[in-house]
Amino acid sequence: MHEAVTKNTERRIQRTMEALRANNMEAYYVKTAAEVVPFVEQMIPAGATVSNGGSVSLAETGVMDLLASGRYHYLDRSKVSGEALEQLFRDVFSADWYLASTNAVTENGELYNVDGTSNRVAAITFGPKNVLLVVGCNKIVKDIHAAATRVKEIAAPANTDRLGCKTPCAVTGTCADCHSPARICCTTTIHRYQRIAGRIKVLFVGEPLGF
Ligand code: SF4
Repeated sequence: MHEAVTKNTERRIQRTMEALRANNMEAYYVKTAAEVVPFVEQMIPAGATVSNGGSVSLAETGVMDLLASGRYHYLDRSKVSGEALEQLFRDVFSADWYLASTNAVTENGELYNVDGTSNRVAAITFGPKNVLLVVGCNKIVKDIHAAATRVKEIAAPANTDRLGCKTPCAVTGTCADCHSPARICCTTTIHRYQRIAGRIKVLFVGEPLGF
């Protein structure tokens, strides 16, 4: 990335961090993806009960491997299915930490997410004592309108393709407001000012992550 682009990206991240802090969320910044795992190790004490939402950003940065390393009591959704998975989704509400990314974050300090099963947006909203979101610089948008557009034209088509969902966006690359059984955007959440100060923490990375 050209130095001028890096500087502009960092200014945008700083603006967004200030807006998130004004909304009672914590905000942090590391320059590279390689710094994410050391940050998480320093932030989350060994032995804590942790879980996560599905996230390419967590996989790309090595956080998924850290969660599964044995350092934590990990509620691992990848190891269960059926009724056990349903139970795990409920157990997650009692976890110490929940890790995920966000589909978009606005320069006004708003988190914008869509979900199919909705366990991820539910846990971000309520339950786990702490929520840590790992967010690449590509997720920052101007406002809620731009966030919705980002989801329909970038995040949803890429995620449905990744997950093998048979939805219109997986084929055409854009939203058709479908009634598909595999729809991944059944619920939309916007997190603005939070009553519980600091529960939601956002770690920005000065590189693109996920989609
Ligand atoms: S409504 Fe359907 S087509 Fe539109 S983004 Fe969601 S899953 Fe894709």
